[in-house]
Amino acid sequence: MPASPSDKPVYRFAPSPNGLLHLGHALSALINHDMARANGGRFLLRIEDIDLARCTPEFEQAIYRDLAWLGLEWEQPVRRQCEHFDAYHAALNRLTGMELVYPAFLTRGEVKAKVAAFEADGKTWPRDPDGSPLYPDDDRHRSEAERRRLIADGLRHAFRLDMKKVLGLIQMPLNWIETGDGERGEIPADPSVWGDVVLSRSDAPSSYHLSVTLDDAAQGITHVVRGLDLFEATAVHRLLQQLLGLPQPVYHHHRLVVGADGRKLSKSEGSTGLAALRDQGLGLRDIRRLLGL
Ligand code: GLU
Repeated sequence: MPASPSDKPVYRFAPSPNGLLHLGHALSALINHDMARANGGRFLLRIEDIDLARCTPEFEQAIYRDLAWLGLEWEQPVRRQCEHFDAYHAALNRLTGMELVYPAFLTRGEVKAKVAAFEADGKTWPRDPDGSPLYPDDDRHRSEAERRRLIADGLRHAFRLDMKKVLGLIQMPLNWIETGDGERGEIPADPSVWGDVVLSRSDAPSSYHLSVTLDDAAQGITHVVRGLDLFEATAVHRLLQQLLGLPQPVYHHHRLVVGADGRKLSKSEGSTGLAALRDQGLGLRDIRRLLGL
């Protein structure tokens, strides 16, 4: 009997329209597409545009142009995160109802100043795998009455996950199945290294971690294929899956494309931009060769 569409593996490429795609994105999109083809799977596209200030319709159109130029075909409709803020909000409410979330009032500048003052004595403030300082304890310990008062005063705030509380609640150990270019097999997930991760901000109604986890489940993604720069973030995604009762995809973190300086490409580097390479007359074969595919 032929497999029903729901039995097929489901892959996705999930770019953010906050700049032009470069060779690193091409690698990710092509690997996803190639794996979907090779495994008789589906290939979905998701536009990760929760950052309303930095994402633009022009960059979104450029994504469609660049991916079509790479010969990719994706299913319609494309999921756009800006159309699903209600779903992210509902999940945030659920976690709030479980008393696992608190309003966080410190601005980036205040956190920076606090860390600098602490480190002035030669001590080191703990940092997450991306190098950002962990969020201080201050807001976690506030009383409910004080939280309500600060919010009523109009103080801007984010919502953060109380990591210590969550870790006391869920069943450990937590792990994921990895098939990528780095470590493979069953990987132990340690979300504590991220501290109290942000779930929504005053200027963005959801965070990357929350929306990516919910959307992978909503789209039935069975294989998350993305760059090794997101390897460590998987621990947070597994934690949210566990808390929200979501299925666990297989993860495949692939090698990164690096620039002449040996660092991961950034969207501001025009020379490796796909549109610029197209304008220079390169074709799909050249791009595949450049990427070693
Ligand atoms: N939107 C993320 C990015 O452009 C990718 C998220 C993911 O693949 O999990 O880096």
